[in-house]
Amino acid sequence: MELEGLAAAEAPRLISELPGINAQQVLERDARTTSPSLPRAYPFVPARAAGSVVEDVDGNRFLDLNAGIAVTSTGHCHPRVVEAIQAQAAELIHYSASDFYLPIYSEVAERLDEVAPMSGPVRSFLTNSGTEAVEAGIKLARWATGRQYLIAFYNSFHGRSYGSVSLTASKATYRAGFAPLLPGVLHAYYGDGRDMQMAPGSAGEGFPTLDYIEHFLMKRMVAPQEVAAIVVEPVLGEGGYIVPPDGWLTGLRELCDRHGIYLICDEVQSGMGRTGKMWAVEHEGVEPDILLSGKGIASGMPLGAMIAKDSKMTWTVGTHGSTYGGNPVACAAALATLDVIADEHLVENADKVGHMLMEGLRDIQSRHPLIREVRGLGFMIGVQLANHDAAAEVEQRSFRAGLLILGCGDDAIRMSPALSFDEDRARVALEVFETVVDDVERTGA
Ligand code: PLP
Repeated sequence: MELEGLAAAEAPRLISELPGINAQQVLERDARTTSPSLPRAYPFVPARAAGSVVEDVDGNRFLDLNAGIAVTSTGHCHPRVVEAIQAQAAELIHYSASDFYLPIYSEVAERLDEVAPMSGPVRSFLTNSGTEAVEAGIKLARWATGRQYLIAFYNSFHGRSYGSVSLTASKATYRAGFAPLLPGVLHAYYGDGRDMQMAPGSAGEGFPTLDYIEHFLMKRMVAPQEVAAIVVEPVLGEGGYIVPPDGWLTGLRELCDRHGIYLICDEVQSGMGRTGKMWAVEHEGVEPDILLSGKGIASGMPLGAMIAKDSKMTWTVGTHGSTYGGNPVACAAALATLDVIADEHLVENADKVGHMLMEGLRDIQSRHPLIREVRGLGFMIGVQLANHDAAAEVEQRSFRAGLLILGCGDDAIRMSPALSFDEDRARVALEVFETVVDDVERTGA
């Protein structure tokens, strides 16, 4: 079957045990030579993919609600993205944009300027990954404000390099054994404070989680005039696909404004149309000072961006750079991705089909007490199960049923399909998912 045919093919369609014979061989080879740190979710070995269908090395077809972990925004191997990559690779694969000038680098920066959720001009520093965008954001905020401290949130995930992992607070595993981490990082409670058991000042108007920052952290731990930035995911990703209550991000913005603190929004996962708006902060109309992008920005080519208001990107020549960041092939994929998202109305699709998927999941919840909560925005959907084991079992059995989903938080699974995921595919996903939930409910985790 041609690759384009695969996009329309029936899925799931399983023809072997999982993992199949070829997959088992890959797993054995992999186990001998790759880093044991890699946290593989299940024994899935993709060979090729189109749209939201992935074929593994044994010819099994899976319906992909992971999109390579919220990355292949336009669907796997969108023909226009493939063509753009091939054309660019035949012209110029690399020249470092840090030391010289690449037209395609500034073209991407211009396009990001057009879509950035900030009024007034912005500038972009391009990276190879999300975590590098976070590092760039930390460095710019410290440099530009002349302040040292950073505030991040429990349950957040910002990556695994030293600065990012110092902000990350979703699992102690990410941090254990690596201390000392970046000094000057404090953590606060996210959103509605669902796991805020010890914080004072919970009474009264407003958000106790914001009170905690202003009336506890800033009173006992750090003077506000020493805080460079507050770094926040507008929707928690790895930490559980949790949407903060209305008004919370606005409150955070106001808090930053009161103290001259940069608001850094990490939209590596929630950005590029995933939540049914180009950026998740747009649901509240909040303007960050620095916006971080990655994952879906180039449909799977390694690219990230640290986007800042022109007035805030004050650092000077030589303060930051990268050999590969803004590589021309990745930039070509980003331009094609932005075109496809606009031309095929994919943000609108994420909103529409995301609603349908979420309603379908709530319907399933009404029949299955194993499901405790369905939450999310657009195609960033979290389903909370009764406990961790139930979530892990639903994830594993979904894979065995040909549906690719992934765990998040302590006891949830996430669905983050390509922005092009359509209603027919959504109906199939719901059917398979209900069968899996039913099975786990009946036979136990
Ligand atoms: N920030 C957020 C919100 C993420 O979800 C991730 C990755 O999952 C990162 C940063 C790190 O991105 P990368 O894995 O590309 O370094």
